[in-house]
Amino acid sequence: MSTNYFALDSIDEALIRAERSKARELRKSRWWQQKTSTGTCWYCGQKVGFHNLTMDHVVPLTRGGRSTKDNLVPCCKECNNKKKSLLPVEWEEYMDGLRQRKE
Ligand SMILES: [Zn+2]
Repeated sequence: MSTNYFALDSIDEALIRAERSKARELRKSRWWQQKTSTGTCWYCGQKVGFHNLTMDHVVPLTRGGRSTKDNLVPCCKECNNKKKSLLPVEWEEYMDGLRQRKE
């Protein structure tokens, strides 16, 4: 039943598209305005200003994350790029490093 694989793939794609549009809607919400009002990156804690923050899925959509308020955080461009270029395990190590620096 090889067609099942195709069906699964298209469901995933449709789901990810739907989650992306949900995230876009949340970006316009008051909730997001409040979350980004301090201009602080959720990961590194740097104040980069509202306009330099992007919306990031803590658990990426491709790894089963969803566009829910507890999975969306403001993220500076630096962290965003880092998160994209690193493997999840490397990103975890980076975050551990940040946490230790704060303590
Ligand atoms: Zn950052």
